[in-house]
Amino acid sequence: MLRLMKNLKPLRSFATASLPAPETNPSIMYAGIFIDNEWCKSQSGKTFETKNPTTGEVIEEVQEGDVEDINIAVQAAKKAFKFGSQWRTMDASQRGVLLHKLADLIERDHVYLASLETLDNGKPFSAAYAFDVPYSASVLRYYAGWADKNHGKVIPMDGNFFGYTRHEPIGVCGQIIPWNFPLLMMAWKLAPALATGNTIVLKPAEQTPLTALYLAQLTKEAGFPPGVINVVPGFGKAGAALVAHNDVDKIAFTGSTEVGKLVQEGAAKSNLKRTTLELGGKSPNIIFKDADMDHAVETAHFGLFFNMGQCCCAGSRTFVEDDIYDEFVERSVERAKKRTVGNPFDPSIEHGPQIDEEQLNKILQMIDSGKKQGAKLVTGGDRVGSQGYFISPTVFADVKDDMTIAREEIFGPVQQILKFSDLNEVIERANKTDYGLAAAIFTKDIDRANHLIQGLRAGTVWVNTYNVLKNQVPFGGYKMSGHGRELGEYGLQAYTEVKSVIVKINQKNS
Ligand code: NAP
Ligand code: MG
Repeated sequence: MLRLMKNLKPLRSFATASLPAPETNPSIMYAGIFIDNEWCKSQSGKTFETKNPTTGEVIEEVQEGDVEDINIAVQAAKKAFKFGSQWRTMDASQRGVLLHKLADLIERDHVYLASLETLDNGKPFSAAYAFDVPYSASVLRYYAGWADKNHGKVIPMDGNFFGYTRHEPIGVCGQIIPWNFPLLMMAWKLAPALATGNTIVLKPAEQTPLTALYLAQLTKEAGFPPGVINVVPGFGKAGAALVAHNDVDKIAFTGSTEVGKLVQEGAAKSNLKRTTLELGGKSPNIIFKDADMDHAVETAHFGLFFNMGQCCCAGSRTFVEDDIYDEFVERSVERAKKRTVGNPFDPSIEHGPQIDEEQLNKILQMIDSGKKQGAKLVTGGDRVGSQGYFISPTVFADVKDDMTIAREEIFGPVQQILKFSDLNEVIERANKTDYGLAAAIFTKDIDRANHLIQGLRAGTVWVNTYNVLKNQVPFGGYKMSGHGRELGEYGLQAYTEVKSVIVKINQKNS
Protein backbone atom coordinates (compact mmCIF):
# COMPACT_ATOMS: atom_id res chain seq x y z
CA MET A 1 0.00 0.00 0.00
CA LEU A 2 1.21 3.48 -0.81
CA ARG A 3 1.22 5.82 2.14
CA LEU A 4 0.37 9.51 2.29
CA MET A 5 3.18 11.50 3.85
CA LYS A 6 3.46 14.93 5.37
CA ASN A 7 6.49 17.22 5.83
CA LEU A 8 8.78 15.01 3.82
CA LYS A 9 12.54 15.42 4.27
CA PRO A 10 14.36 16.14 1.01
CA LEU A 11 17.07 13.90 -0.37
CA ARG A 12 20.67 15.06 -0.33
CA SER A 13 20.71 15.87 -4.03
CA PHE A 14 17.51 17.88 -4.06
CA ALA A 15 17.76 20.45 -1.33
CA THR A 16 14.34 22.03 -0.96
CA ALA A 17 12.89 23.49 2.21
CA SER A 18 10.27 20.76 2.47
CA LEU A 19 8.44 18.32 0.32
CA PRO A 20 4.65 18.31 0.32
CA ALA A 21 2.64 15.11 0.48
CA PRO A 22 2.36 13.47 -2.94
CA GLU A 23 -0.91 12.39 -4.52
CA THR A 24 -0.25 8.69 -4.41
CA ASN A 25 -3.28 7.94 -6.56
CA PRO A 26 -3.47 10.89 -8.97
CA SER A 27 -6.51 10.90 -11.23
CA ILE A 28 -5.77 10.35 -14.90
CA MET A 29 -7.57 13.07 -16.81
CA TYR A 30 -6.17 12.71 -20.32
CA ALA A 31 -5.37 9.53 -22.25
CA GLY A 32 -6.33 10.57 -25.78
CA ILE A 33 -4.63 12.07 -28.82
CA PHE A 34 -4.28 15.86 -28.72
CA ILE A 35 -4.67 17.52 -32.12
CA ASP A 36 -5.75 21.11 -32.89
CA ASN A 37 -6.29 21.73 -29.17
CA GLU A 38 -8.90 18.95 -29.03
CA TRP A 39 -8.88 15.40 -27.65
CA CYS A 40 -9.63 12.55 -30.01
CA LYS A 41 -9.51 8.78 -30.27
CA SER A 42 -7.17 6.82 -32.51
CA GLN A 43 -8.36 6.24 -36.09
CA SER A 44 -7.77 2.50 -35.66
CA GLY A 45 -9.72 2.37 -32.40
CA LYS A 46 -6.68 0.77 -30.75
CA THR A 47 -5.34 1.56 -27.30
CA PHE A 48 -2.24 0.50 -25.36
CA GLU A 49 -1.52 0.08 -21.66
CA THR A 50 0.72 2.30 -19.61
CA LYS A 51 1.98 0.56 -16.49
CA ASN A 52 3.13 1.52 -13.04
CA PRO A 53 6.72 0.19 -12.82
CA THR A 54 6.49 0.03 -9.03
CA THR A 55 3.83 -2.69 -9.21
CA GLY A 56 3.70 -3.76 -12.86
CA GLU A 57 -0.03 -2.97 -12.84
CA VAL A 58 -1.85 -1.19 -15.66
CA ILE A 59 -2.60 2.47 -14.86
CA GLU A 60 -4.56 3.40 -17.95
CA GLU A 61 -5.47 2.50 -21.53
CA VAL A 62 -4.07 5.19 -23.81
CA GLN A 63 -5.18 5.91 -27.40
CA GLU A 64 -2.67 4.37 -29.79
CA GLY A 65 -1.63 6.80 -32.52
CA ASP A 66 -0.62 5.29 -35.83
CA VAL A 67 0.28 6.44 -39.35
CA GLU A 68 -3.14 8.02 -39.94
CA ASP A 69 -3.22 9.87 -36.62
CA ILE A 70 0.29 11.19 -37.25
CA ASN A 71 -0.85 12.42 -40.64
CA ILE A 72 -3.85 14.27 -39.17
CA ALA A 73 -1.61 15.84 -36.51
CA VAL A 74 0.99 16.87 -39.10
CA GLN A 75 -1.70 18.52 -41.23
CA ALA A 76 -2.89 20.47 -38.16
CA ALA A 77 0.68 21.58 -37.43
CA LYS A 78 1.19 22.52 -41.08
CA LYS A 79 -1.97 24.63 -41.09
CA ALA A 80 -0.93 26.37 -37.88
CA PHE A 81 2.43 27.18 -39.50
CA LYS A 82 0.89 28.63 -42.65
CA PHE A 83 2.17 32.07 -43.61
CA GLY A 84 -0.30 34.62 -42.22
CA SER A 85 -1.69 32.28 -39.51
CA GLN A 86 -2.36 33.48 -35.97
CA TRP A 87 0.87 31.81 -34.79
CA ARG A 88 3.04 33.17 -37.62
CA THR A 89 1.79 36.74 -37.17
CA MET A 90 2.02 36.71 -33.38
CA ASP A 91 4.67 39.06 -31.94
CA ALA A 92 7.74 37.14 -30.86
CA SER A 93 7.42 38.68 -27.39
CA GLN A 94 3.89 37.23 -27.15
CA ARG A 95 5.30 33.75 -27.79
CA GLY A 96 7.46 34.40 -24.74
CA VAL A 97 4.39 35.42 -22.73
CA LEU A 98 2.67 32.12 -23.65
CA LEU A 99 5.73 30.14 -22.59
CA HIS A 100 5.74 31.97 -19.24
CA LYS A 101 2.02 31.16 -18.83
CA LEU A 102 2.73 27.49 -19.47
CA ALA A 103 5.46 27.59 -16.82
CA ASP A 104 2.99 29.24 -14.39
CA LEU A 105 0.52 26.38 -14.95
CA ILE A 106 3.21 23.74 -14.37
CA GLU A 107 4.07 25.47 -11.09
CA ARG A 108 0.37 25.63 -10.16
CA ASP A 109 0.08 21.85 -10.68
CA HIS A 110 3.52 21.04 -9.25
CA VAL A 111 2.43 18.31 -6.81
CA TYR A 112 0.03 16.69 -9.25
CA LEU A 113 2.58 16.57 -12.09
CA ALA A 114 5.32 15.20 -9.83
CA SER A 115 2.92 12.54 -8.52
CA LEU A 116 1.82 11.56 -12.03
CA GLU A 117 5.46 11.27 -13.13
CA THR A 118 6.26 9.03 -10.15
CA LEU A 119 3.25 6.84 -10.87
CA ASP A 120 4.00 6.38 -14.58
CA ASN A 121 7.81 6.36 -14.51
CA GLY A 122 8.68 5.07 -11.03
CA LYS A 123 11.16 7.83 -10.13
CA PRO A 124 11.20 8.97 -6.50
CA PHE A 125 8.59 11.64 -5.83
CA SER A 126 11.28 13.67 -4.06
CA ALA A 127 13.22 13.85 -7.35
CA ALA A 128 10.17 14.45 -9.53
CA TYR A 129 9.06 17.25 -7.19
CA ALA A 130 12.44 18.90 -6.62
CA PHE A 131 14.04 18.31 -10.03
CA ASP A 132 11.85 17.26 -12.98
CA VAL A 133 8.89 19.59 -12.48
CA PRO A 134 10.67 22.84 -11.51
CA TYR A 135 13.34 22.32 -14.19
CA SER A 136 10.59 21.85 -16.76
CA ALA A 137 9.07 25.19 -15.79
CA SER A 138 12.46 26.90 -15.70
CA VAL A 139 13.50 25.82 -19.21
CA LEU A 140 10.23 27.24 -20.54
CA ARG A 141 11.02 30.51 -18.79
CA TYR A 142 14.59 30.51 -20.09
CA TYR A 143 13.44 30.19 -23.72
CA ALA A 144 10.53 32.59 -23.11
CA GLY A 145 13.23 35.19 -22.62
CA TRP A 146 14.86 34.30 -25.93
CA ALA A 147 11.62 34.52 -27.97
CA ASP A 148 12.18 38.15 -29.05
CA LYS A 149 15.98 38.12 -28.91
CA ASN A 150 16.92 35.54 -31.53
CA HIS A 151 17.96 38.12 -34.09
CA GLY A 152 20.15 37.90 -37.17
CA LYS A 153 23.03 40.11 -38.23
CA VAL A 154 23.50 43.10 -40.46
CA ILE A 155 26.41 42.20 -42.73
CA PRO A 156 28.65 44.75 -44.43
CA MET A 157 28.75 43.16 -47.85
CA ASP A 158 30.63 43.86 -51.05
CA GLY A 159 28.80 45.94 -53.65
CA ASN A 160 26.01 48.39 -53.10
CA PHE A 161 23.71 46.18 -51.12
CA PHE A 162 22.11 45.96 -47.72
CA GLY A 163 22.70 42.43 -46.41
CA TYR A 164 21.19 40.90 -43.31
CA THR A 165 20.11 37.54 -41.89
CA ARG A 166 16.79 36.49 -40.41
CA HIS A 167 16.51 33.54 -38.02
CA GLU A 168 13.28 31.90 -39.12
CA PRO A 169 11.42 28.87 -37.73
CA ILE A 170 12.05 25.60 -39.56
CA GLY A 171 8.39 24.60 -39.77
CA VAL A 172 6.66 21.46 -38.53
CA CYS A 173 8.89 19.76 -35.97
CA GLY A 174 8.47 16.12 -34.96
CA GLN A 175 9.71 15.48 -31.42
CA ILE A 176 10.21 11.98 -30.02
CA ILE A 177 10.59 11.99 -26.23
CA PRO A 178 12.26 9.32 -24.04
CA TRP A 179 10.84 7.70 -20.92
CA ASN A 180 13.64 8.50 -18.44
CA PHE A 181 12.70 12.19 -17.89
CA PRO A 182 9.33 12.35 -19.65
CA LEU A 183 8.16 15.82 -18.58
CA LEU A 184 11.58 17.46 -18.54
CA MET A 185 12.62 16.16 -21.97
CA MET A 186 9.30 17.36 -23.35
CA ALA A 187 9.97 20.82 -21.91
CA TRP A 188 13.55 20.79 -23.31
CA LYS A 189 12.14 20.16 -26.78
CA LEU A 190 8.99 22.31 -26.68
CA ALA A 191 10.64 25.43 -25.29
CA PRO A 192 13.19 26.33 -28.02
CA ALA A 193 10.85 25.14 -30.80
CA LEU A 194 8.01 27.36 -29.60
CA ALA A 195 10.22 30.34 -28.74
CA THR A 196 11.42 30.37 -32.35
CA GLY A 197 7.91 30.00 -33.84
CA ASN A 198 7.77 26.40 -35.03
CA THR A 199 4.77 24.07 -34.76
CA ILE A 200 5.01 20.63 -33.22
CA VAL A 201 3.87 17.03 -33.39
CA LEU A 202 5.23 15.33 -30.30
CA LYS A 203 5.32 11.61 -29.58
CA PRO A 204 5.84 10.65 -25.92
CA ALA A 205 7.47 7.35 -24.99
CA GLU A 206 5.03 4.46 -24.87
CA GLN A 207 6.09 3.68 -21.28
CA THR A 208 5.37 7.20 -19.98
CA PRO A 209 2.69 9.12 -21.90
CA LEU A 210 0.72 10.56 -18.97
CA THR A 211 2.56 13.77 -18.04
CA ALA A 212 2.94 14.63 -21.76
CA LEU A 213 -0.82 14.38 -22.22
CA TYR A 214 -1.52 16.51 -19.17
CA LEU A 215 1.00 19.10 -20.38
CA ALA A 216 -0.78 19.14 -23.76
CA GLN A 217 -3.96 20.30 -22.00
CA LEU A 218 -1.95 22.96 -20.16
CA THR A 219 -0.67 24.36 -23.49
CA LYS A 220 -4.30 24.90 -24.50
CA GLU A 221 -5.08 26.54 -21.17
CA ALA A 222 -2.03 28.79 -21.57
CA GLY A 223 -3.49 30.05 -24.87
CA PHE A 224 -1.35 28.48 -27.61
CA PRO A 225 -3.40 28.54 -30.84
CA PRO A 226 -4.86 25.26 -32.19
CA GLY A 227 -2.40 23.10 -34.13
CA VAL A 228 0.76 24.66 -32.68
CA ILE A 229 1.32 21.74 -30.29
CA ASN A 230 -0.06 18.28 -31.10
CA VAL A 231 0.68 15.22 -28.97
CA VAL A 232 0.24 11.72 -30.38
CA PRO A 233 0.97 8.80 -28.06
CA GLY A 234 1.87 5.64 -29.96
CA PHE A 235 3.20 2.15 -29.67
CA GLY A 236 5.47 0.88 -32.39
CA LYS A 237 4.51 2.85 -35.50
CA ALA A 238 3.96 6.51 -34.67
CA GLY A 239 7.65 7.42 -34.36
CA ALA A 240 8.59 5.97 -37.73
CA ALA A 241 5.51 7.58 -39.35
CA LEU A 242 6.60 10.98 -38.06
CA VAL A 243 10.11 10.50 -39.39
CA ALA A 244 8.87 9.33 -42.81
CA HIS A 245 6.36 12.17 -43.26
CA ASN A 246 7.20 14.57 -46.07
CA ASP A 247 5.45 17.51 -44.40
CA VAL A 248 7.62 17.26 -41.29
CA ASP A 249 10.58 19.62 -41.61
CA LYS A 250 12.63 18.49 -38.63
CA ILE A 251 12.88 15.64 -36.15
CA ALA A 252 14.35 15.92 -32.66
CA PHE A 253 14.91 12.53 -31.06
CA THR A 254 16.25 11.46 -27.68
CA GLY A 255 16.74 7.74 -27.17
CA SER A 256 18.97 4.86 -28.21
CA THR A 257 21.72 5.13 -30.83
CA GLU A 258 20.08 2.22 -32.66
CA VAL A 259 16.81 4.13 -33.19
CA GLY A 260 18.76 7.37 -33.74
CA LYS A 261 20.32 5.78 -36.80
CA LEU A 262 16.87 4.77 -38.07
CA VAL A 263 15.71 8.35 -37.58
CA GLN A 264 18.60 9.71 -39.63
CA GLU A 265 18.04 7.09 -42.31
CA GLY A 266 14.30 7.86 -42.42
CA ALA A 267 15.05 11.58 -42.71
CA ALA A 268 17.38 10.92 -45.64
CA LYS A 269 14.90 8.63 -47.39
CA SER A 270 12.01 11.10 -47.10
CA ASN A 271 12.51 14.83 -47.52
CA LEU A 272 15.99 15.31 -45.99
CA LYS A 273 14.37 16.80 -42.92
CA ARG A 274 16.75 18.26 -40.34
CA THR A 275 17.59 16.04 -37.38
CA THR A 276 18.94 16.55 -33.91
CA LEU A 277 19.80 13.37 -32.07
CA GLU A 278 20.54 13.02 -28.37
CA LEU A 279 21.54 9.37 -28.00
CA GLY A 280 23.34 7.03 -25.67
CA GLY A 281 26.58 7.28 -23.75
CA LYS A 282 29.25 5.38 -21.86
CA SER A 283 30.69 8.35 -20.07
CA PRO A 284 34.06 8.17 -18.29
CA ASN A 285 34.39 9.61 -14.80
CA ILE A 286 38.10 9.93 -13.93
CA ILE A 287 39.15 10.13 -10.29
CA PHE A 288 42.77 11.10 -9.42
CA LYS A 289 44.42 10.35 -6.11
CA ASP A 290 44.54 14.03 -5.10
CA ALA A 291 40.74 14.37 -5.33
CA ASP A 292 38.64 14.97 -2.23
CA MET A 293 37.76 11.33 -1.54
CA ASP A 294 34.41 11.88 0.24
CA HIS A 295 33.20 14.19 -2.48
CA ALA A 296 34.46 11.98 -5.32
CA VAL A 297 32.84 8.82 -3.92
CA GLU A 298 29.50 10.53 -3.31
CA THR A 299 29.48 12.36 -6.66
CA ALA A 300 30.52 9.30 -8.66
CA HIS A 301 27.70 7.42 -6.90
CA PHE A 302 25.22 10.16 -7.80
CA GLY A 303 26.67 10.36 -11.34
CA LEU A 304 25.76 6.73 -11.94
CA PHE A 305 22.80 5.84 -9.72
CA PHE A 306 20.69 8.99 -10.19
CA ASN A 307 17.34 8.08 -11.78
CA MET A 308 18.12 4.37 -11.25
CA GLY A 309 21.01 4.67 -13.70
CA GLN A 310 18.60 5.62 -16.48
CA CYS A 311 20.52 8.69 -17.66
CA CYS A 312 22.13 9.10 -21.06
CA CYS A 313 25.06 10.90 -19.41
CA ALA A 314 25.50 8.40 -16.53
CA GLY A 315 29.14 8.07 -15.43
CA SER A 316 29.15 4.39 -16.25
CA ARG A 317 32.93 3.96 -16.51
CA THR A 318 34.49 5.13 -13.26
CA PHE A 319 38.29 5.22 -13.78
CA VAL A 320 40.19 5.40 -10.47
CA GLU A 321 43.94 6.00 -10.03
CA ASP A 322 45.72 2.88 -8.76
CA ASP A 323 46.96 4.31 -5.41
CA ILE A 324 43.41 4.96 -4.17
CA TYR A 325 41.63 2.20 -6.11
CA ASP A 326 40.97 -0.23 -3.26
CA GLU A 327 39.77 2.44 -0.86
CA PHE A 328 37.55 3.99 -3.52
CA VAL A 329 35.94 0.63 -4.32
CA GLU A 330 35.38 -0.11 -0.64
CA ARG A 331 33.75 3.26 -0.01
CA SER A 332 31.66 3.09 -3.19
CA VAL A 333 30.33 -0.28 -2.05
CA GLU A 334 29.50 1.15 1.39
CA ARG A 335 27.61 3.99 -0.28
CA ALA A 336 25.76 1.73 -2.72
CA LYS A 337 24.66 -0.51 0.17
CA LYS A 338 23.18 2.53 1.93
CA ARG A 339 21.12 3.48 -1.11
CA THR A 340 17.48 3.09 -0.12
CA VAL A 341 15.40 1.10 -2.59
CA GLY A 342 11.62 0.86 -2.55
CA ASN A 343 8.29 2.59 -3.05
CA PRO A 344 9.14 5.85 -4.87
CA PHE A 345 6.34 7.73 -3.11
CA ASP A 346 8.15 7.20 0.21
CA PRO A 347 10.37 10.23 0.97
CA SER A 348 13.14 8.12 2.49
CA ILE A 349 13.58 6.25 -0.79
CA GLU A 350 16.38 7.27 -3.15
CA HIS A 351 15.85 4.51 -5.66
CA GLY A 352 12.71 3.25 -7.40
CA PRO A 353 12.10 0.62 -10.07
CA GLN A 354 13.51 0.42 -13.61
CA ILE A 355 11.06 1.53 -16.28
CA ASP A 356 9.77 -1.84 -17.48
CA GLU A 357 10.31 -5.57 -17.63
CA GLU A 358 12.33 -5.35 -20.84
CA GLN A 359 14.86 -2.98 -19.25
CA LEU A 360 14.91 -5.06 -16.06
CA ASN A 361 15.82 -8.18 -18.03
CA LYS A 362 18.35 -6.37 -20.19
CA ILE A 363 20.14 -5.03 -17.09
CA LEU A 364 20.12 -8.42 -15.35
CA GLN A 365 21.67 -9.94 -18.50
CA MET A 366 24.38 -7.29 -18.48
CA ILE A 367 25.13 -8.07 -14.83
CA ASP A 368 25.37 -11.74 -15.76
CA SER A 369 27.80 -10.96 -18.59
CA GLY A 370 29.96 -8.92 -16.17
CA LYS A 371 30.21 -11.92 -13.85
CA LYS A 372 30.92 -14.34 -16.68
CA GLN A 373 33.61 -12.13 -18.21
CA GLY A 374 35.50 -11.97 -14.91
CA ALA A 375 34.55 -8.64 -13.33
CA LYS A 376 34.26 -8.76 -9.54
CA LEU A 377 30.69 -8.23 -8.32
CA VAL A 378 31.19 -6.43 -5.01
CA THR A 379 27.61 -5.58 -4.17
CA GLY A 380 24.09 -5.96 -5.57
CA GLY A 381 23.44 -7.79 -8.79
CA ASP A 382 19.92 -9.02 -8.04
CA ARG A 383 16.33 -8.23 -8.66
CA VAL A 384 14.65 -6.86 -5.52
CA GLY A 385 11.31 -8.53 -4.76
CA SER A 386 9.05 -10.03 -7.37
CA GLN A 387 6.61 -7.16 -7.84
CA GLY A 388 7.66 -4.20 -9.98
CA TYR A 389 11.03 -3.84 -11.67
CA PHE A 390 13.56 -3.19 -8.90
CA ILE A 391 17.30 -3.94 -9.10
CA SER A 392 19.67 -3.61 -6.16
CA PRO A 393 22.41 -0.96 -6.54
CA THR A 394 25.27 -2.91 -8.12
CA VAL A 395 29.03 -2.30 -8.15
CA PHE A 396 31.61 -4.16 -10.23
CA ALA A 397 35.35 -3.86 -9.49
CA ASP A 398 38.30 -5.10 -11.57
CA VAL A 399 36.47 -4.17 -14.75
CA LYS A 400 38.55 -4.35 -17.95
CA ASP A 401 38.04 -2.16 -21.01
CA ASP A 402 37.03 -4.97 -23.32
CA MET A 403 34.26 -6.38 -21.12
CA THR A 404 30.71 -5.85 -22.38
CA ILE A 405 29.76 -3.93 -19.21
CA ALA A 406 32.58 -1.47 -19.95
CA ARG A 407 31.61 -0.99 -23.58
CA GLU A 408 27.82 -1.09 -23.86
CA GLU A 409 25.24 1.20 -22.37
CA ILE A 410 23.52 -0.56 -19.44
CA PHE A 411 21.04 2.19 -18.54
CA GLY A 412 20.65 0.75 -15.07
CA PRO A 413 22.07 0.90 -11.52
CA VAL A 414 25.38 -0.80 -12.29
CA GLN A 415 28.67 0.98 -11.51
CA GLN A 416 31.85 -0.20 -13.25
CA ILE A 417 35.11 0.72 -11.49
CA LEU A 418 38.27 0.50 -13.60
CA LYS A 419 41.89 1.11 -12.55
CA PHE A 420 44.40 3.43 -14.26
CA SER A 421 47.92 4.62 -13.53
CA ASP A 422 48.90 7.20 -16.13
CA LEU A 423 47.36 10.45 -17.40
CA ASN A 424 47.74 9.88 -21.13
CA GLU A 425 46.78 6.24 -20.78
CA VAL A 426 43.48 7.22 -19.16
CA ILE A 427 42.69 9.80 -21.85
CA GLU A 428 43.14 7.18 -24.54
CA ARG A 429 41.05 4.62 -22.68
CA ALA A 430 38.33 7.13 -21.84
CA ASN A 431 38.02 8.04 -25.54
CA LYS A 432 38.04 4.43 -26.73
CA THR A 433 34.28 4.26 -27.17
CA ASP A 434 31.79 4.99 -29.94
CA TYR A 435 30.04 7.40 -27.60
CA GLY A 436 30.96 10.95 -26.55
CA LEU A 437 28.18 12.48 -24.49
CA ALA A 438 29.85 13.46 -21.22
CA ALA A 439 32.98 12.99 -19.10
CA ALA A 440 34.13 14.06 -15.65
CA ILE A 441 37.43 14.63 -13.87
CA PHE A 442 38.08 14.75 -10.13
CA THR A 443 41.38 16.41 -9.22
CA LYS A 444 42.77 19.47 -7.43
CA ASP A 445 45.48 19.96 -10.08
CA ILE A 446 44.34 22.68 -12.48
CA ASP A 447 46.96 21.87 -15.13
CA ARG A 448 45.96 18.23 -15.18
CA ALA A 449 42.29 19.20 -15.41
CA ASN A 450 42.96 21.57 -18.32
CA HIS A 451 44.97 18.92 -20.14
CA LEU A 452 42.12 16.41 -19.80
CA ILE A 453 39.42 18.93 -20.73
CA GLN A 454 41.14 19.30 -24.10
CA GLY A 455 41.87 15.61 -24.55
CA LEU A 456 38.44 14.16 -23.80
CA ARG A 457 36.11 13.80 -26.76
CA ALA A 458 32.74 14.52 -25.18
CA GLY A 459 30.01 17.15 -25.46
CA THR A 460 30.21 18.04 -21.76
CA VAL A 461 33.17 17.80 -19.38
CA TRP A 462 32.50 18.23 -15.66
CA VAL A 463 35.35 19.03 -13.27
CA ASN A 464 34.85 18.03 -9.63
CA THR A 465 31.12 17.67 -10.21
CA TYR A 466 28.66 15.51 -12.15
CA ASN A 467 25.20 15.72 -13.73
CA VAL A 468 25.11 19.51 -13.65
CA LEU A 469 22.75 20.46 -16.47
CA LYS A 470 21.53 24.03 -16.64
CA ASN A 471 19.29 25.84 -19.10
CA GLN A 472 22.02 28.28 -20.14
CA VAL A 473 24.66 25.70 -21.14
CA PRO A 474 24.35 23.47 -24.24
CA PHE A 475 24.09 19.70 -23.96
CA GLY A 476 24.68 17.09 -26.66
CA GLY A 477 27.03 14.49 -27.99
CA TYR A 478 30.18 13.84 -29.97
CA LYS A 479 30.43 10.72 -32.13
CA MET A 480 27.55 8.22 -31.83
CA SER A 481 26.04 10.09 -28.89
CA GLY A 482 24.30 12.20 -31.53
CA HIS A 483 24.49 15.62 -33.06
CA GLY A 484 23.06 19.05 -32.46
CA ARG A 485 22.78 20.74 -29.09
CA GLU A 486 19.90 21.31 -26.71
CA LEU A 487 19.70 24.13 -24.16
CA GLY A 488 21.38 27.51 -24.15
CA GLU A 489 21.73 29.85 -27.10
CA TYR A 490 23.08 26.95 -29.21
CA GLY A 491 19.74 25.18 -28.69
CA LEU A 492 18.04 27.88 -30.78
CA GLN A 493 20.08 26.94 -33.85
CA ALA A 494 18.44 23.53 -33.92
CA TYR A 495 15.06 25.19 -34.51
CA THR A 496 15.93 28.00 -36.92
CA GLU A 497 16.84 28.36 -40.56
CA VAL A 498 19.09 31.26 -41.50
CA LYS A 499 17.70 33.39 -44.31
CA SER A 500 20.06 35.79 -46.06
CA VAL A 501 18.40 38.93 -47.34
CA ILE A 502 20.16 41.09 -49.93
CA VAL A 503 18.56 44.38 -50.89
CA LYS A 504 19.95 46.46 -53.73
CA ILE A 505 20.53 50.06 -52.74
CA ASN A 506 19.84 52.49 -55.55
CA GLN A 507 22.06 55.57 -55.56
CA LYS A 508 20.20 58.84 -55.40
CA ASN A 509 22.12 61.88 -56.39
CA SER A 510 19.46 64.42 -55.60
P1 NAP B 1 14.46 3.79 -28.01
O1 NAP B 1 14.63 2.55 -28.78
O2 NAP B 1 15.58 4.71 -27.96
O3 NAP B 1 13.28 4.67 -28.60
C1 NAP B 1 11.95 4.32 -28.60
C2 NAP B 1 11.19 5.48 -29.26
O4 NAP B 1 11.63 5.60 -30.61
C3 NAP B 1 9.72 5.27 -29.27
O5 NAP B 1 9.09 6.52 -29.07
C4 NAP B 1 9.47 4.78 -30.68
O6 NAP B 1 8.22 5.16 -31.18
C5 NAP B 1 10.53 5.49 -31.47
N1 NAP B 1 10.92 4.74 -32.64
C6 NAP B 1 11.12 3.42 -32.76
N2 NAP B 1 11.49 3.10 -34.02
C7 NAP B 1 11.53 4.25 -34.69
C8 NAP B 1 11.87 4.59 -36.02
N3 NAP B 1 12.23 3.66 -36.92
N4 NAP B 1 11.81 5.88 -36.38
C9 NAP B 1 11.46 6.81 -35.48
N5 NAP B 1 11.13 6.55 -34.21
C10 NAP B 1 11.17 5.29 -33.83
O7 NAP B 1 13.95 3.52 -26.55
P2 NAP B 1 13.69 2.20 -25.72
O8 NAP B 1 13.53 0.98 -26.60
O9 NAP B 1 12.59 2.51 -24.80
O10 NAP B 1 15.05 2.10 -24.89
C11 NAP B 1 16.13 1.35 -25.39
C12 NAP B 1 17.44 1.96 -24.95
O11 NAP B 1 17.48 3.33 -25.36
C13 NAP B 1 17.70 2.05 -23.46
O12 NAP B 1 18.20 0.86 -22.94
C14 NAP B 1 18.73 3.13 -23.39
O13 NAP B 1 20.00 2.59 -23.66
C15 NAP B 1 18.33 4.04 -24.54
N6 NAP B 1 17.64 5.25 -24.06
C16 NAP B 1 18.36 6.39 -24.06
C17 NAP B 1 17.78 7.55 -23.59
C18 NAP B 1 18.54 8.83 -23.57
O14 NAP B 1 18.25 9.68 -22.75
N7 NAP B 1 19.50 9.05 -24.48
C19 NAP B 1 16.46 7.55 -23.13
C20 NAP B 1 15.74 6.36 -23.17
C21 NAP B 1 16.35 5.21 -23.64
P3 NAP B 1 7.15 4.05 -31.58
O15 NAP B 1 6.69 3.45 -30.29
O16 NAP B 1 6.09 4.77 -32.29
O17 NAP B 1 7.89 3.08 -32.43
MG1 MG C 1 4.28 3.80 -17.31
